[in-house]
Amino acid sequence: MVRLMKLPIHNAPLETQPLLGVTQPDLETLLEQWGEKKFRAKQIVEWIYLHQVASIEEMTNLSKSLREKLTGTFHLFESHVLTESIATDGTRKLLLSWSDGQTTECVLIPGDNRRTACISTQVGCPVGCVFCASGLEGVKRNLNAGQIVEQVMRLKRLCEPEHRLSNVVFMGLGEPLANYDNTIAALRLINGCVGIGARKITVSTVGLPKQMRRLADEQLQFTLALSLHAPTDELRKQLIPWAEGVTIAELTDAAQHYFERTGREVTLEYVLLADVNDAPEHAKQVASICRKMRANVNLILYNPVPDLPYRRPTDAHARQFLTTLKDNGVNAHLRPSRGLDIDSACGQLRRRNEQESQSG
Ligand code: SAH
Ligand code: SF4
Repeated sequence: MVRLMKLPIHNAPLETQPLLGVTQPDLETLLEQWGEKKFRAKQIVEWIYLHQVASIEEMTNLSKSLREKLTGTFHLFESHVLTESIATDGTRKLLLSWSDGQTTECVLIPGDNRRTACISTQVGCPVGCVFCASGLEGVKRNLNAGQIVEQVMRLKRLCEPEHRLSNVVFMGLGEPLANYDNTIAALRLINGCVGIGARKITVSTVGLPKQMRRLADEQLQFTLALSLHAPTDELRKQLIPWAEGVTIAELTDAAQHYFERTGREVTLEYVLLADVNDAPEHAKQVASICRKMRANVNLILYNPVPDLPYRRPTDAHARQFLTTLKDNGVNAHLRPSRGLDIDSACGQLRRRNEQESQSG
């Protein structure tokens, strides 16, 4: 692991708005109000997403006065990089500091033919799943749409031009559907402006049925991943506090609605925790859930979090779980874990940084 840089935390909250959170039509409306030509909006969008400039000053085909007006109203990049870590498998993780001093993580994950950005939607998480580092201290605030898009642009700049950023997963800190409006605005910008195909974007949720249905009714082609993690309500409640208020049956109904409205099969995520949810019986119960809906299962090997009592099963045991699922007719995959040597479990790096700064 290489820890590249560590910079001091800055900074007062900004008075300007995030330009990365603005759609081209909204920009057109604003420019017209300013007495500017509408086509300038397209030029600005090209500077940001095609040429990937680092500042508004670099948009050299705009007049100086327009650039000044834009700079007085918007900022392009708000965060700065507190640390950048590179794992031996090539996974790169950025710890970003926002203008209010809060920090979040985003990760660039290399694959054979793809580069995936894993991004956060909140500072911390309100859910507090017992095995997860992100929710250990609750949630501090939502990220706005511009801050969500900014993570994608930062990771895009890390991998291009050698590789094209091909996929985006909303699997970092936070519960995306608990920050619905910003998440959906960011989804549209990542699809429409950054140019990542909707089918290459995955939103992972712990399961908020109302918001899952709302997302389905937007009729967009994003992949929805539902964090199941337990095949019975009883066990799920022990792992996920928010499962108190929602049953697996309600979630599978909402997931089926998503499939019916979008034609997109829902992915069920299942993090394997040794001796907790990884028995053959659990696999058979997961398979019977899958018979009630159109879904595929993504098994995740647990990334252990310091201070938490959970362990990952052995590879052989995980493969056995996979085989039981497949033998019972489930389309299932076992996802290799990435970046293990850089605290890659979501929320882990941020947490360690906070603990280090508290201990001076
Ligand atoms: N809050 C959303 C999205 C962020 S978490 C959700 O829970 O779906 C993305 C995925 O990573 C979830 O499936 C989550 O359960 C899983 N995860 C959390 N902590 C993990 C850990 N330490 N190791 C492996 N997966 C983890
Ligand atoms: Fe939040 Fe997802 Fe972590 Fe649960 S697993 S605490 S919902 S980030």
